[in-house]
Amino acid sequence: MQTIASRKVVTIDYQLSENNSAEMLEEGTLDYLHGFNNLLPALERFLDGKAEGFSGSIKIAAKDAFGDADPALVFRIPKDSIEGVDRIRPGMLIELESAEQILPAMVKSIGDDHVVADANHPYAGKDLLFTVTVKAIRNATAEELAHGHAHGKHGHHH
Ligand code: ZN
Repeated sequence: MQTIASRKVVTIDYQLSENNSAEMLEEGTLDYLHGFNNLLPALERFLDGKAEGFSGSIKIAAKDAFGDADPALVFRIPKDSIEGVDRIRPGMLIELESAEQILPAMVKSIGDDHVVADANHPYAGKDLLFTVTVKAIRNATAEELAHGHAHGKHGHHH
């Protein structure tokens, strides 16, 4: 029987919620290449050595997941500097452009003359609870190893 190790492509069903909350953040099926930093390190360590059919849950504290929310990444932007501001609503993802980079940010609130947008990772500051079932394990192809990620239905698409 195959067990999860580096250079294996693993298919998992996963459910992600905030720890201590019944609210689901995300769920789905994923093909990933183990041992290539494609998952959170704590989640990869948890799955290491597990066999097909394994099912279990792991809590990952915010500091081991996406870190704490950084107040410096919450921006107050003058409305007159935003193109198409009339179409913007709370919860929308917008792109903040600076000289160096483009930063995706979530619109938090809209005031009379400004918009508050948060560029932190949506899961920053959240303690996470992953429930994972291992559906399949196979050897990675040479191409997958060269790319550092899994291909296929639930993997990376080019
Ligand atoms: Zn690829």
